[in-house]
Amino acid sequence: MPDKKPEKQNRQGVDSRTLLKRLRDILAEQGEGQERLDKITYIIACSMDADVCSIYLRRDEKTLELCATEGLNPESVHQTRLRVGQGLVGRIADLARPVQSKDAPAAKGFRYMPETGEEVFSSFLGVPIQRLGEVLGVLVVQNREPRVYTEDEVYGLEVVAMVIAEMAELGAFTAEGQQAMAMPHQRPFFAKGIVGQEGVAEGHVVLHEPHIVIANPVADDPESEKKRLAEAFAKLQAEIDRMLKTDQLAATGEHREVLEAYRMFAHDRGWRQRMEASIESGLAAEVAVEKEQSNTRTRMERVTDAYLRERLHDLDDLANRLLRILAGRDGNGADMPDDAILVARNIGPAELLDYGRKLKGVVLEEGSVGSHAAIVARALAIPLVIQAARITREALSGDEILVDGDAGVAHLRPEESVKTAFHEKIAMRAEAQEEYAALRDLPAVSTDGQRIRLEMNAGLMADLPSLEGSGAEGVGLYRTELQFLLRSSVPKRTEQADLYSRVLDAAKGKPVTFRTLDIGSDKVLPYMKRQDEPNPAMGWRAIRLGLDRPGVMRMQFQSLLRGAKGRPIRVMFPMIAQFDEFRAARDMLLEEIRREKTKRHSLPSDVKIGAMLETPSLAFAPDQFFRMADFISIGGNDLKQFFFAADRENERVRRRYDTLNVSFLSFIEQIANRCNDNDTPVSFCGEDAGRPVEALAFAAMGLRTLSMRPASVGPIKRLIRYVDLGKTKTIIDQARASGEQSVRPALEGWLKSIGAPYR
Ligand code: PEP
Ligand code: MG
Repeated sequence: MPDKKPEKQNRQGVDSRTLLKRLRDILAEQGEGQERLDKITYIIACSMDADVCSIYLRRDEKTLELCATEGLNPESVHQTRLRVGQGLVGRIADLARPVQSKDAPAAKGFRYMPETGEEVFSSFLGVPIQRLGEVLGVLVVQNREPRVYTEDEVYGLEVVAMVIAEMAELGAFTAEGQQAMAMPHQRPFFAKGIVGQEGVAEGHVVLHEPHIVIANPVADDPESEKKRLAEAFAKLQAEIDRMLKTDQLAATGEHREVLEAYRMFAHDRGWRQRMEASIESGLAAEVAVEKEQSNTRTRMERVTDAYLRERLHDLDDLANRLLRILAGRDGNGADMPDDAILVARNIGPAELLDYGRKLKGVVLEEGSVGSHAAIVARALAIPLVIQAARITREALSGDEILVDGDAGVAHLRPEESVKTAFHEKIAMRAEAQEEYAALRDLPAVSTDGQRIRLEMNAGLMADLPSLEGSGAEGVGLYRTELQFLLRSSVPKRTEQADLYSRVLDAAKGKPVTFRTLDIGSDKVLPYMKRQDEPNPAMGWRAIRLGLDRPGVMRMQFQSLLRGAKGRPIRVMFPMIAQFDEFRAARDMLLEEIRREKTKRHSLPSDVKIGAMLETPSLAFAPDQFFRMADFISIGGNDLKQFFFAADRENERVRRRYDTLNVSFLSFIEQIANRCNDNDTPVSFCGEDAGRPVEALAFAAMGLRTLSMRPASVGPIKRLIRYVDLGKTKTIIDQARASGEQSVRPALEGWLKSIGAPYR
């Protein structure tokens, strides 16, 4: 403890620069964490002429602990604890903003803690100690006599709290055995998210947007800091102007709107002036940017309006860019470890593809199951967890992390016991993989002799190697739009034809079903003008767009016919809702075949033309439709969303209705019967076909072909080969007859009783 108190400041202004310099000296000195905190509370109390200064740090997610105090009873240090939200201190942590009171004991929410002896102090001012929107603790000053703290004092204390947060990040306050004083990024963190792609991975964090660690949060020379900030702004503005000019982006579309918003923010005087004011009070330029970023993030957590949230995200991204420029770290220059697990707020499909197979796993704070990034992760067979709240704030580059894509969770900086359990899981999975490999060349035949054809879904060249590895018998759904989605302009006809040709080469004679462009709804091409539709999933998408703007579809037909190079192909149209749409699209394709013939181009040896059944209406189309279609593929993802009127992308309702709901299952059965009655081959290619129990139920309902992600072929084949499909049907029928809402309990109960591998 310093033996001589520095001179007291007058109340009108805290000399924050001098105070910050003292803090910096404390940071530079050798010493224990506790000693540092004690000194800090002491010098803040002196320079603010406060009777009390206390620092509360987060002990865990929900609790704050008094870690140092000047003025309160020293015995209460590490004894007094509060829940976040409780008392004035807890409220500050909860709201992430300052709270003051002239008469604290009488203030609403005040919580009396007798052990501290604080009842004699009337006035209270507390500010959050936060970094990048995350509250690490609370800094409080108190005075005996009732008084109001000036705006300058509040601001000054906030600036001090910023420096304390940076010091905490640098590990300045760690102490053996004191949980609240552990470095913020050293505790284990469990992130509960959602399954994006199954699989497990163990490795080290690579942050898509790396954190900048600020070694010196206090600046000596505000003028030179302001100059650095000005230069960084100039660079940022030039970067955005360059992005707006590059021909990578078309003149219209969403990207441009985002960049225009960026440009506006980058020129926003208020934003920059606030940073300059922080620098004036003694902060380094980086910390001044982070202070603004903290405010943005706090606001982001409270705003519910989607548009406003997006704009706040833009502002957050810009602050990240500024920080990187200031730190001289433009771009993702960090070396990738061999076992890289990518952690990001969100990521675009093209960016993810750039990282490619170098990644062992991906954890996203946002994202959705149907997003393009999720599709790419699936194609690359990388375990993916989405919607893992707080992960980008908690993770630091190089942290150990376990990704459990099966459960949709990630363990950051795991404890030994968690690691042991995880290793057991990896070993069990490896055993199962061996079992699937042994089945690879065997057919999926049930014990009562029913043969089910198992195919795989694909959309990228990267998918094709799985055809051989998984034992799939063909590609039941090739999503051609991915080639379009990953590019910045429409791929040329030769490029398309080349891709289709390479896909057929890779399939080595196994059949491939190409689905024509399925865009619109969630699949918006970066170079396509965004349609302002109130309900895009039911809007102008897929075949509707293809028929209304036939140019692109025609070009795709030509590419398919030429890419086939004389081999047989299968073509199907997405989102056919009525017979006429199928007839019109089919006529267009037949017309193109005729034209190619006239031009004496070589033609595929056979062209099968089918429809995707993704709207309930098509199940009730006339028999003529079923007879005209060479095959039908049930797009269960869309069909289910329209059947239950539940958005497939909306996490609130997505899982509300079970696929094994008797209504849906009976509907699938009806479709299978109609197709069988008309001799129309039918398959199911939605995600549910890749889930063992669902796949089994579909097979029992009469579907003989299922198309799924490659990793599902093994588990589903193993289950089908284990069961009697006739008996499965009986179990389902009994459950239906008994008035159950879903046949799942009955079916899973039975599978369990016979020891079937259904999980
Ligand atoms: C479907 O809707 O089930 C389907 C396979 O198509 P997508 O998921 O591409 O919409
Ligand atoms: Mg669909």
